Amino acid sequence: MSIVVFVEDWNGAYKKASFEAVGYAKNWASMIGAKVIAVTSSEAPAAELADYGADHCIQISLGQTAMGIAGQLEALSADASGVVIAGTSLGRSVAPALAAIKESALSTNTISLPLGTSPLQVKRGAFSSKGIETIELSGASPIISFVPNSIGIENASGEGVIESQEIPATELLQVVGTEVASGKVALPEAEAVVSAGRGLKGPENWGMIEELAEVLGAATACSKPVSDIGWRPHSEHVGQTGIQVNPNLYIAIGISGAIQHLAGVSASKTIVVVNTDPEAPFFKAADYGIVGDAFEVVPKLVNALRAFKAAS
Ligand SMILES: Cc1cc2nc3c(=O)[nH]c(=O)nc-3n(C[C@H](O)[C@H](O)[C@H](O)COP(=O)(O)OP(=O)(O)OC[C@H]3O[C@@H](n4cnc5c(N)ncnc54)[C@H](O)[C@@H]3O)c2cc1C
Repeated sequence: MSIVVFVEDWNGAYKKASFEAVGYAKNWASMIGAKVIAVTSSEAPAAELADYGADHCIQISLGQTAMGIAGQLEALSADASGVVIAGTSLGRSVAPALAAIKESALSTNTISLPLGTSPLQVKRGAFSSKGIETIELSGASPIISFVPNSIGIENASGEGVIESQEIPATELLQVVGTEVASGKVALPEAEAVVSAGRGLKGPENWGMIEELAEVLGAATACSKPVSDIGWRPHSEHVGQTGIQVNPNLYIAIGISGAIQHLAGVSASKTIVVVNTDPEAPFFKAADYGIVGDAFEVVPKLVNALRAFKAAS
């Protein structure tokens, strides 16, 4: 028996969400006495995956698109008891494609390890993550797509046997150009996010947001109107109709806190809000709030953090 886990890398290094995915698979596999098979196109050391519980690492040249990758994962998971895919940008496309091809049950937005395995039972975010539902997945080889950073990473030892396979990907479309998002840290998997809204007045004022993000090692994000008017790229738009994030720290600057924005960020572990309006709805969702002008508060935060880093 096996649990197959899809492993992604970025610039030659495994993504943190991939370690979380391998750990998830290990937990599930331990409950049913199965092995963990990690599938990756990365040439990063397989031993790194073994440290989180991978027993076998299948290295394969992965397809270019979600459909191509899903077809390859189907071939590799034909006899598997289940599949784990982190809910990254790519993972959120691969998981439903794989579920359709395999005709398997899929839990998206999963936020718990299996609560039971016969049938598989997990908790998932529902109603734009405003609620949590417990679901049971029936049928063979169910698929779990979990919210990155919701499970956590723990070390576990796996056998780490490496194997190469060649399974050609069947692509329905070809990627003819790629544009890489400007942020230095990938937003969906970021541990800290500095986000700004219309309170910033214009795109020329984002320098201080980028500075704050840089000093914190955070990704940058924005509200929907900000990307709609072209102040920031759409890849930074968070909320109900944008990217859903789950960082340890979410700093919201000059964002009112409309329900559609909160739907994509309220799962953040700690929320800090900077807003001139003490009645701004975001303060109700905040762990820490600063009633103040972003143009005064943010430079002070940057200076204080730089001084703190220099001293420590
Ligand atoms: C179907 C639907 C889907 C939507 N999906 C999304 C979504 O996914 N994501 C999203 O973000 N929105 C979404 N929206 C839009 C949402 O309803 C809000 O309109 C939007 O989030 C408001 O953006 P904002 O907070 O940047 O702007 P505003 O509402 O204009 O708020 C600006 C805030 O900045 C504060 N401010 C002003 N000056 C300063 C200053 N100098 N310093 C500090 N604070 C200052 C103000 O007090 C105010 O609270 C959606 C709307 C609909 C109808």
